Amino acid sequence: MKKIVVIPGDGIGKEITDSAVEVLKKVDEKFNLDLEYEFHDAGGTAYDKFGEPLPAETLEACKKADAVLFGAVGGNKWDNVKAELRPERAILGLRKGLGLYANLRPVKVVDALVDNSPLKANLVKGVDLVIVRELVGGIYFGERCESEIKNGSERAWDLENYSVPEVERITKLAFETAKIRRGKLTSVDKANVLATSRLWRRTVTKLSENYSDVELNHLYVDNCAMQLCVNPKQFDVIVTGNLFGDILSDEAAVIGGSIGLMPSASIGEFTSLYEPIHGSAPDIAGKGIANPMGTILSAAMLLRYSLHEEEAAKAIENAVDKTLDDGFRTADIYSDGFKKLSTVETTQEICKRL
Ligand code: NAD
Repeated sequence: MKKIVVIPGDGIGKEITDSAVEVLKKVDEKFNLDLEYEFHDAGGTAYDKFGEPLPAETLEACKKADAVLFGAVGGNKWDNVKAELRPERAILGLRKGLGLYANLRPVKVVDALVDNSPLKANLVKGVDLVIVRELVGGIYFGERCESEIKNGSERAWDLENYSVPEVERITKLAFETAKIRRGKLTSVDKANVLATSRLWRRTVTKLSENYSDVELNHLYVDNCAMQLCVNPKQFDVIVTGNLFGDILSDEAAVIGGSIGLMPSASIGEFTSLYEPIHGSAPDIAGKGIANPMGTILSAAMLLRYSLHEEEAAKAIENAVDKTLDDGFRTADIYSDGFKKLSTVETTQEICKRL
């Protein structure tokens, strides 16, 4: 048996993870994957029950699992909770506890949704890229000073640093990802200004000697931000550090037209975690109208990266594409002429197409 820990979390978390589990059960029937599920609390729901956003029991279960499927956490209800106990702390705790060193965010614009993109149809039709972001290093985890007086003025600082092994680990994953895709890797840095970026570039270039089947190019981050708007189709896999990846992955996500559709994977040394990129959407929680596709596509990534079940992963992705092609839409992507469905109905349509 392969054990999947499911963490619904808060807000729409339960609705969307229920959908993804239903789809996984359906795909399991077809491909004999032998999956079993264990449900655990995190976020505000866990705070209400146990007084902490990430109970030790949840983290332990995740460590023992073959993979983790995560919904979303957070909501206004916990706005006045102490910073260290807020629901979102569960995400940082999981990242640290599971050693999630890489975040993979695919952006695939399906033909049926080309008109939902803020970019012109001719620019986005056919976009299919993945951003691989380093997740546990760089300036977000460097030394910092909140406030000091120097030469009579108050200042603050944050230190960016990367080691060769850190860059090698994320770059290897990016090369491997490119190898099973279209064989093109773009490394993004700011090597014209930053020493950490020059070390990043040297390390990536050296590693490329082991991957003659992958074509490598380098872009400065400002140029990459621009290229994502003017010619996103040029990209296959993009690899970059924590800060640049945070910004570029949000920029790239909007190209797809709706955050409800976007999946992600956070890869760990042992266990990896899969979740949609959106939050807990408290404004629509409990209404049964959330788009479950981001979570369902995250479940497909789980099958691909943690269980190496490529055929089953592809089957889910095709079923989602087909549901959209056939004109079914949740409220967030609905427009005149399409068929509007609830979360549960959307899930059923996807299951039918499996
Ligand atoms: P959000 O992503 O939850 O919602 C932004 C907007 O998108 C809302 O209008 C929401 O209704 C809509 N939306 C999001 N997902 C949708 C879906 N699947 N289907 C249809 N519509 C969808 O972002 P927010 O409002 O800034 O944050 C709400 C809470 O979520 C906050 O507490 C925030 O801290 C938390 N959050 C959690 C995560 C996470 O768990 N990984 C990520 C981001 C935000």
